[in-house]
Amino acid sequence: MLEGKAIQAAWNDVQDVSQGYTTKPYIQTTPHSGTDDQCCCMCNKPLRRSRQQRMVHLIDGGLSFLHPKDEALYTSDEGDMLWFFIGPDCAKKLGLEWTITLEP
Ligand SMILES: [Zn+2]
Repeated sequence: MLEGKAIQAAWNDVQDVSQGYTTKPYIQTTPHSGTDDQCCCMCNKPLRRSRQQRMVHLIDGGLSFLHPKDEALYTSDEGDMLWFFIGPDCAKKLGLEWTITLEP
């Protein structure tokens, strides 16, 4: 498992545009199976529903985050895992621009 600076380094190095849209690798900071929609998809901490929620778009069978600015360039395929919740701390590490917000 990657932690702290290693995560940042992985994300900084790997912004892939080879498929015509920008992606970053999806990293779980706490190992968990599946994606509980009440929990952060990275650290698996429970989310507070009263707060503004952030979501990320997972593609490539769950291997990559898709940048929201490139939604129009992405054609949904069998690897499209759709949207998952991400906690505020993990969203900051990932980069808020990689998330969309939902009002409570
Ligand atoms: Zn988290």
